[in-house]
Amino acid sequence: MVVLAVESASLGRLSSSSASSEASSSADWPETVRVAVRVRPPLAREVSTEELTVRAPGEVTAWPDDGLGPGPRYSFTFDAAFSPSEGQAAVYDAVARPAVSSTLAGFNASIIAYGHTGAGKTHTMEGAPDGAQRGIIPRAVADIFEHVERSARPGARRFLVRASYLQIYNEVLSDLLKPGRNGLAIREDRKKGLRAEGLSEWVVRSPAEVDGLLRRGAETRATAATAANDASSRSHAVFCLTFEQSEASGGGEACPRGSVFRSSKLNLVDLAGSERLRVSGASGQRLEECKYINGSLAALGNVVAALTSGTARHVPYRDSKLTRLLADSLGGNCKTTMIACVAAASMAETVSTLKFASRARHVHNSARINEQIDQLTALEAERYGGDMGEIWG
Ligand code: ADP
Ligand code: MG
Repeated sequence: MVVLAVESASLGRLSSSSASSEASSSADWPETVRVAVRVRPPLAREVSTEELTVRAPGEVTAWPDDGLGPGPRYSFTFDAAFSPSEGQAAVYDAVARPAVSSTLAGFNASIIAYGHTGAGKTHTMEGAPDGAQRGIIPRAVADIFEHVERSARPGARRFLVRASYLQIYNEVLSDLLKPGRNGLAIREDRKKGLRAEGLSEWVVRSPAEVDGLLRRGAETRATAATAANDASSRSHAVFCLTFEQSEASGGGEACPRGSVFRSSKLNLVDLAGSERLRVSGASGQRLEECKYINGSLAALGNVVAALTSGTARHVPYRDSKLTRLLADSLGGNCKTTMIACVAAASMAETVSTLKFASRARHVHNSARINEQIDQLTALEAERYGGDMGEIWG
């Protein structure tokens, strides 16, 4: 085991950006899951006569046509809705930045991309690693390190950022940053909440280091899925950043003892897309994958149904690895944002996504700032020095 550390105080330059304002992070956040819908532009081969319209700030209307003429019109209201012409920056600014700000303020936050295969989940979460097409993950990482740079004070206010990356493929949970580390169990830890046992966590000190981990994860993900050509869509992926901050309560002591300590997580979730077996004509391994994906998404639907029914006594988190892992994000100590991705060319899937998303909007969470006094923290790892590496796992 290598123990590593970050001394963010050395970054110390002040900069001005809008990302981190702690005050804005929680004031206008509802107690429920926030839900945004993003309609992706039609691809070159797609022709659709069906209507899918977005009206600001959050109204979406779908008008499917079953071949015999237009059917019923469905209208929904969400916290935000993005038309095909709205780009990555607009989605990040309106939907993801408040979640990142919450994490910086000490809340757990999750951003979950949901939708059928090809609807734009990976484009929304990852996008390109740089430039205008950057998705939520690279933008969030940039904002987090900007905040660290701006706010660190030598010996008085210190930060530690750690990253982990896992996937759930056919109900098997694997560490994407440690090839071969498969079949991880999910355990509930009183202090740290839900965690995948044995999942490696890596100290990161710059966006470039995070980018390196993401690339490594993408390679593992691709080689793990042998026959499936679009590997990434066949598994659920969770990229998690843990953000620790320690502030000396007086005297600017270097040691975190006697200081206020906050630890928060940002879960960035790219779900596998649901697929209608009848449409995709899957067989063999592909069929198995479909069954697992549809099974875990059905479990997610059941959890949301139970949480919003008002009468259910039991929430079936344990029915799938995905729902177990997301238990804190759905009904727990977390500020959760769901981005439902849809496309006009897949109207049946779009309508079912919109129905699910509109129900998810009623899930109540109870996020709190994760703060302790006199906590010995991973920040102490600083003592050990060294390069980036795995600190536990
Ligand atoms: P998913 O992850 O939901 O299966 P992808 O993100 O891979 O879907 O998107 C499918 C295709 O559509 C990709 O080629 C992607 O680049 C493109 N795409 C998705 N959303 C957008 C968008 N908002 N703007 C432009 N292209 C998009
Ligand atoms: Mg995808």
